[in-house]
Amino acid sequence: MKSLRIVFAGLLLLTTLYAHAEAEVTAVRLWPAPDNTRLVFELSGAMEHRLFMLRDPERLVIDLKDTRFGKNIGRLEAAGELVGGVRSAPHDGSLRVVLDLKQRVQPKTFTLPPSQGYDYRLVIDLYPEGGDEIATLAAAAERPSGTGKASDLPKAASSPPAKAPAASPARGRDLVVAIDAGHGGEDPGAIGAKGTREKDVVLAIARKLKALVASEPGIKPVMIRDGDYFVSLGNRVRKARTAKADLFISIHADAFLNRSANGSSVYMLSDKGATSEHARFLAQKENDSDLVGGVSLDDKDDLLASVLLDLSQTATKEASSDLAERVLGNLGGLGKLHKSHVERAGFRVLKAPDIPSILVETAFISNHQEERLLKSAQHQQSLANAIFKGITTHLRRYAPPGTLIAQQAALDRNQRGTSDLRLVAAPPAEPEPEPITPQTHLADKDLDPFDEDNPLSAFR
Ligand SMILES: [Zn+2]
Repeated sequence: MKSLRIVFAGLLLLTTLYAHAEAEVTAVRLWPAPDNTRLVFELSGAMEHRLFMLRDPERLVIDLKDTRFGKNIGRLEAAGELVGGVRSAPHDGSLRVVLDLKQRVQPKTFTLPPSQGYDYRLVIDLYPEGGDEIATLAAAAERPSGTGKASDLPKAASSPPAKAPAASPARGRDLVVAIDAGHGGEDPGAIGAKGTREKDVVLAIARKLKALVASEPGIKPVMIRDGDYFVSLGNRVRKARTAKADLFISIHADAFLNRSANGSSVYMLSDKGATSEHARFLAQKENDSDLVGGVSLDDKDDLLASVLLDLSQTATKEASSDLAERVLGNLGGLGKLHKSHVERAGFRVLKAPDIPSILVETAFISNHQEERLLKSAQHQQSLANAIFKGITTHLRRYAPPGTLIAQQAALDRNQRGTSDLRLVAAPPAEPEPEPITPQTHLADKDLDPFDEDNPLSAFR
């Protein structure tokens, strides 16, 4: 090693103008995701690298020119479905890192300049050959559960024949709710004074919301991120569309220089600029996620470029607005709101033209008290409950035809017809000291089968 260093020193003297100084690897991180595994080298300077595969057994070799490991590099443990082991050694003036692979992979590499507290980064994404998560999601979306066809009916064999009347209509499809936990992997999101990371608390809230959605008949969840890995903003939208999502809920925790800022807020996409300075600031910060999380500059986002044409889709906007209002209303019942109205800004993750999409800033992680709340499982559950309630009340009004929720709503309307008659025809009740119950409240106004105050609604 010593002699190598001397050789390096000599070379450097000769080529100072052209060559980099010896760089240090200051950190190495491995992020296994469902459809890829990401390896990140953080370096004290920009370095040339070389990558090649070896077969039988499968290995990936990475040579980092003029580079050595820094002193504080811990041991990198293999993790995930693709990488079975990691070895390294100096090799021919380079640092050679060998990944022992569990299967054949396709690597994709790119470098990132220093940003947001990171040094230079070399990112190596490994994709299993022939497998990718978007393809898997597409296959899942094609499965019968979403089509509303007769084949979607529960298996006759699993239910008693007596309970399956021949004339009953086909069960409508389930609505798909895409749950998007912000940030992840290289991108921690905002960080609280006590070190709480946005990416962790929003994933915890997202998982609680997923459980609620999964337990509700007629809707099913799709997690856009379900672990500590990064998903680019474009891929978040793409995954939601591939899964044929009917709604898209992005979950975040706000941060602001002023530590007294607090409360929940709900955002939707604006195609005409932001509704406030904070909304503009926040959208910019959230849109920077790709820079921090690591996306190759040559990743062309055709989808996001093309959707601008479709942003005039008023149906999506109207539904997004209703969804945002309902979620905001329920968060308001839980605690303080940062803004009492829905805000709008140019969030890239909300740009699916055909999916009503909102972004929920659950609380300010930069606020001491709210940082503590965000870490509490109980408060995470309350936030998930509030978002869930907003989703279900929205869906009662906006469920598309052919869905189970729409069928139940129609059924409710029919029942309301009879109930109306009953309410009108019923003799006045015995006068009694009556508290204001939902029932008496209802008699005073138009019955709305979707109204959450309506005790006749099956969704209560
Ligand atoms: Zn965020």
